[in-house]
Amino acid sequence: MYNSLLKHEKMETVSHFAAAVSHELRNPLQSIKGFIQLMKEYEYSREKQVEFHSLILKEINAAEDLIDDYLVYAKPTYGQLESITVSAEIQHVMKIMAPYANVKDVEMQITDMDEQAEILIDRQKFQQALVNIIRNGIEAMPDGGTLAVAVKTSPAKVWIEVTDEGIGMTKEEVKRLGEPYFSNKIKGTGLGMMVTYSIVSQMNGQIMVDSEKGKGTEFTLEFPNFSASPKK
Ligand code: ADP
Ligand code: MG
Repeated sequence: MYNSLLKHEKMETVSHFAAAVSHELRNPLQSIKGFIQLMKEYEYSREKQVEFHSLILKEINAAEDLIDDYLVYAKPTYGQLESITVSAEIQHVMKIMAPYANVKDVEMQITDMDEQAEILIDRQKFQQALVNIIRNGIEAMPDGGTLAVAVKTSPAKVWIEVTDEGIGMTKEEVKRLGEPYFSNKIKGTGLGMMVTYSIVSQMNGQIMVDSEKGKGTEFTLEFPNFSASPKK
């Protein structure tokens, strides 16, 4: 469980976050600029103009997606924490991820579920953190497999475990989780875990990682148990 010790170190990477996102935003913005410049300099046919318009729209959408995925979740939360039932959120996130799991021949299972478990969280951010972990779990199993999710509680804590039987990680790889641009994937952004670490620590949670190369990985998210707290 050495990874949880790195929490504060991970917080420092959050400051790199803005740099990471603005770097990624530069590409669509550059294209948009290019098209607009072209349209100013020449008289294009209506057909060509329509083509440019749709290309520009496409780039704007790409920029928007990026903001949705990363920027929103990097913002600190100001009071929009709410008590949520963990099982409902997990079911929702698994529904979101089902088509992706399906394509990758991955079966998602809930192996243990404390239906009563509640945590105090920003719902959207929590979903994003979970989606990023589950996506990585699915992507770690190129030949398919099972991704297990469990929710366990003690009077003080709630644990959400996401276990895959994928490629696993070396100790060094585990240590680098959450570092901006750390990715072993051809099309990876290396930002997913950074977002997840940032979100979980914003919500007073911790992440523990247990992984073995060639065997699989278990991510455990630990949060204070809110079901035990007196309600307003
Ligand atoms: P990306 O998925 O875009 O590569 P992430 O920040 O989500 O970026 O993950 C960073 C890296 O951490 C991945 O490229 C992968 O090497 C490793 N990783 C994360 N989760 C897992 C997992 N469940 N199994 C194996 N490796 C993982
Ligand atoms: Mg990822």
